[in-house]
Amino acid sequence: MASIPCPHCEQKSFSWWDKYRSAKWAIMHCPNCDGRVCAQPLVMAAMYFLYLWDVVLFGYLAYLDSLWYLLAGLVGWLILDYFSLYIPLSAMRRADSGPDKSH
Ligand SMILES: [Zn+2]
Repeated sequence: MASIPCPHCEQKSFSWWDKYRSAKWAIMHCPNCDGRVCAQPLVMAAMYFLYLWDVVLFGYLAYLDSLWYLLAGLVGWLILDYFSLYIPLSAMRRADSGPDKSH
């Protein structure tokens, strides 16, 4: 199942389902090195701009014209979900180490 390498330890620690959840802003913990991992925030920002664009555009077209545009919007959403599986993972700093010990 686990086929996605961890950016901390390079072990294959995450499944595609984990990858999908990371694209929904989930923070994951590597079972091998306990490192924290999330999807690349910049790519995520671009991705969520496209989600917003999809909803606004097809929502507006459905309002103006035909409810079939809602179906097209749903298909667009599923395509974006598919591409969200390929957002690269980013290593987060460990919560209990590193220079940030202010709290
Ligand atoms: Zn790891």
